[in-house]
Amino acid sequence: MSDLVKNYVGGQWVESRSGERFDSLNPATEESVATAYNSSAEDVAAAVEAAKAAYDKWRLTPAPRRGEILFTVAELLKQRKQELAQLMTQEMGKIVAETGGDVQEAIDMAYYMGGEGRRLMGYTAPVEMPNKFGMALRDSVGVVGLITPWNFPLAVPSWKMLPALIAGNTVVWKPGEDVPASSVAFAKVFEDAGLPPGVLNVVTGAGKTGEALVNHPDVRIISFTGSTDTGIRVYTQAAQLGKKVTLEMGGKNAIIVMDDANFDLAVQAITWSAYGTTGQRCTATSRLIVQKGIKPKLVEALIAKANAIRIGNGLDATTEMGPLVNQKALNKVASYMDVAKSDGVVIAAGGNRPDIAKGYFFQPTLFDGVKPGMRVEQEEIFGPVLSVIEVESLEEAIHVNNNTRYGLSSSIFTENVNAAFRAIRDITTGIVYINHGTTGAEIQFPFGGTRGTGNGMREAGQAGLNSFTEWKSVYVDYSGRLQRAQIDTDAILSDGND
Ligand code: ADP
Repeated sequence: MSDLVKNYVGGQWVESRSGERFDSLNPATEESVATAYNSSAEDVAAAVEAAKAAYDKWRLTPAPRRGEILFTVAELLKQRKQELAQLMTQEMGKIVAETGGDVQEAIDMAYYMGGEGRRLMGYTAPVEMPNKFGMALRDSVGVVGLITPWNFPLAVPSWKMLPALIAGNTVVWKPGEDVPASSVAFAKVFEDAGLPPGVLNVVTGAGKTGEALVNHPDVRIISFTGSTDTGIRVYTQAAQLGKKVTLEMGGKNAIIVMDDANFDLAVQAITWSAYGTTGQRCTATSRLIVQKGIKPKLVEALIAKANAIRIGNGLDATTEMGPLVNQKALNKVASYMDVAKSDGVVIAAGGNRPDIAKGYFFQPTLFDGVKPGMRVEQEEIFGPVLSVIEVESLEEAIHVNNNTRYGLSSSIFTENVNAAFRAIRDITTGIVYINHGTTGAEIQFPFGGTRGTGNGMREAGQAGLNSFTEWKSVYVDYSGRLQRAQIDTDAILSDGND
């Protein structure tokens, strides 16, 4: 019998009122890692009550003190990095080097947002009257609801939770249903760091639990990361209740390789970006847009690389690529092999399950001869599948790059500075890389995408604070008399003359 994961509500580890449970399976072995609750709307309501009760004390805690708790979170995460990484690998499959990177992002974000405890910058500006002062302050909002997926069990929640907490909000978090044990292990870090009871609450469960959070009238903000279809549903529901929503959804990220590219660098970056995390990063490269001259040599090198990748259990240090997260993901990826064949695409590498008895493994796959507009070129497959599209010119490459439903990240490999700057200017995704894969965003810069990837909000950096704060504009009149508001310039000049 695997461990039972409890909800964390009001500083207590509690059972769900629903009593319903589900197993979190290890995708490499199909064995149960943990059992968790499929929490009900009642459980969500109890968590929101706890967050409401904790709010006033937390918002009045000086921000530098809140920051100190986040620094302690960072220190504890450093100490527990290995154990957290191993647990994540068992629950969602990516190799330990990558789950270690996942923890590292949470550490970086905890230090960054802990530091914001001494900044949280507002601003002052001149005002129209004499003896008057104006300023804009960042204010907390109240209870915020976080809904996260399984692919970055610590990093993605940390991008939401840490800015929300430093700004003085209290949180109810519904983690991805494939990673309940990793999620509560993350919550335990906050408890051990001395976060007061009720400031962070965790309710495990699936879609219905998330829906209850979105629908709860006292949750003022919903921050969601996941698929585009679910995100749009969440957005629509939250809009009816007048809530602020931040969305980070799908991607169809591309690397452009020009004829003059540094060949070896491009090969390494494409391999890592396409097949790292088994192609299940939001920013994974799923399209290679390659100029005609370099294409035959590049495809040949990538086929060799794909065929050489060691597939296996992510806990094994020699493994380079783990399994897909679950059976549903495996079925979806496998189904795209038929889609590709029916469109006349050549499966130049992979295309099958490897010869491993258990687990949701799939071979690193390369589709050659893909044309813009084909389903495999447009739809998010979310697996180790790279589509190769040949182009003639930079202009064509950028056009193909921009022409999808999504807009998260893109990259170009070129040694020509003019081409690089044109790409920076004309690429329309939220993140652009030059001579680097499509992954590797840093937490001090805005993260997110255009078109179907988001709704204009961003996570991380200063932009991440915008998601979890309201602006409060303050005017202080110290003239001691009634000063009239502006009617016209002459009136102001005579009225305001002391
Ligand atoms: P993924 O493919 O990453 O699982 P989903 O969009 O299905 O993408 O899930 C992302 C998160 O959204 C998960 O935590 C999931 O439980 C939650 N979720 C799924 N359906 C809903 C819904 N209708 N309302 C709110 N949250 C939901």
